Amino acid sequence: GWALDGVAFFEGELVPLAHAKVSIATHAFNYGTGCFEGIRAYWNADERQLYLLKADAHYRRMLRSAHILTIQIPYSVEELVQWTLELLRANHFESDVYIRPLAYKADPAIKVSLGGLRDAFSMFALPMGDYVPVQGLRVQVSSWRRLSDNMIPSRAKVTGAYINAALASEQAHRDGYDEAIMLADDGHVSEASSSNLFLVRQGTLVTTPVTADILEGVTRQLVLELAQANHIPVEIRPIDRTELYTADELFLCGTGVQLAAITEVDHRVVGTGGTGRITGELQSQYFQAVRGQLDAFREWVIPVY
Ligand code: PMP
Repeated sequence: GWALDGVAFFEGELVPLAHAKVSIATHAFNYGTGCFEGIRAYWNADERQLYLLKADAHYRRMLRSAHILTIQIPYSVEELVQWTLELLRANHFESDVYIRPLAYKADPAIKVSLGGLRDAFSMFALPMGDYVPVQGLRVQVSSWRRLSDNMIPSRAKVTGAYINAALASEQAHRDGYDEAIMLADDGHVSEASSSNLFLVRQGTLVTTPVTADILEGVTRQLVLELAQANHIPVEIRPIDRTELYTADELFLCGTGVQLAAITEVDHRVVGTGGTGRITGELQSQYFQAVRGQLDAFREWVIPVY
């Protein structure tokens, strides 16, 4: 359990999180008709400063998700970032934080449709450290396929779509693995249950195109930026399942998982069985950049206080 203490932004105003409630008749609760984001802020203990990471990119994606679902969000990206800063300040956080904005069909309704319903926007935040270990992940290629663009669009971060991710990750956990990698309907690699994937092959970083039914990850973009700054060659192309087995290095990236090294896929050891050289270098830069410690990537973050 989680005490639900702190302050939330609920449909236009800051309120105690414990009071931010919706009815069981809410359309989004019944049909999964919402979209959301997951954003992190990192506490820099030396500076006693909290840094909000890439909120603008997350809100641009949220507006795209909402557009696909025909949900109106009554704020611009700049206003959403400002509300997020206000929410963080109101909670006086002095730790790493996870922020969860939600936009949803808020009317009570029994109706399988998207039209004629009130839209609402709310968000809450909570302290959060590492969501999964960042080293030594053992993963399974799931028997669950990633949902595709003509079913529930993967590039929209849709609340109801996380049944697909939850089925895959639950299966992986019960089978003794840390995470699931899902294949797209065409059999190529898509992504993990809540993160994107990179592999390293002969010094080249490889990731799938955005048309592989992935969520268009903000962290994926940051990894591509780090790769460019470090002159690491990048290939964006379809990935076969067995390339996961033969990769020199393999890692997941996402707001929640951060950068997490995979050491085993379907009982095959990846590379030398530890965190690879390129993965380790990218991790080290990522974890400094998100706390505002690398001048070259200072524009990734906004100081909260
Ligand atoms: N794929 C899925 C399905 C996700 O839920 C997430 C987490 N938002 C990601 C990828 C990674 O995206 P990001 O780096 O923007 O957090």
